[in-house]
Amino acid sequence: MSGELKSGHAGLDEVREKIAAAAREAGRDGSDVALVAVSKTFEADVISTVLDAGHRLFGENRVQEAQRKWPALKDSYPGAELHLIGPLQTNKVRDALALFDCIETVDRPKLARVLAKECAAGGYEPKLFIQVNTGAEPQKAGVLPEDADAFIALCRDELGLRICGLMCIPPFDEEPSLHFALLEKIAKRNGLKELSMGMSGDYDVAVAFGATAVRVGTAIFGSRPTPVAI
Ligand SMILES: *Cc1c(COP(=O)(O)O)cnc(C)c1O
Repeated sequence: MSGELKSGHAGLDEVREKIAAAAREAGRDGSDVALVAVSKTFEADVISTVLDAGHRLFGENRVQEAQRKWPALKDSYPGAELHLIGPLQTNKVRDALALFDCIETVDRPKLARVLAKECAAGGYEPKLFIQVNTGAEPQKAGVLPEDADAFIALCRDELGLRICGLMCIPPFDEEPSLHFALLEKIAKRNGLKELSMGMSGDYDVAVAFGATAVRVGTAIFGSRPTPVAI
């Protein structure tokens, strides 16, 4: 995976060590857990410090913000890989496909259909994750747990999308392990191998519950300059 190579970036080193320790404890190999460094709200000069440390996998939650920052960074740092981890509007799908290597937030039939159409038109084959609203929170994106099987089938079988796994953002004030376990269960019964779960506060727990990707911002970059709702 990206960047066992070098580091020297304190936040990055600390997070990598904690992932390795959590993996060891769970009888897993730390190299099976991808670290998505969430760089939203940080400007290119700050992001560069993590790229300079050898890390190549990043997450952004807004298409427009990423369009402003990442084309130049991708030019400067070959191999940089970008995941979209925020909600995607259908009128931004074409822009998203042009910039992101993976979209983690496929969550409704209309979006899935537009993605299928634009992938075919542009020859894109991005990695895709389906976001599951494990807490059934009304304000949060994601397909409801009870609708997940049918939506996965629609995406894979009818639309031919390359669905690699599932993603969730547990409710802020609940024990995350229940949500991680639920996501794992839905993935398993659908034969999906990848699980994007765990953020700064709980990525070690997520690793214990089988995360194959954790999305970590604050613990690498420090507090965000402007708070953002997720
Ligand atoms: C911001 C964000 C993260 C990272 O959150 P931290 O608590 O800063 O690690 C992870 N996932 C999503 C979807 C986000 O929007």
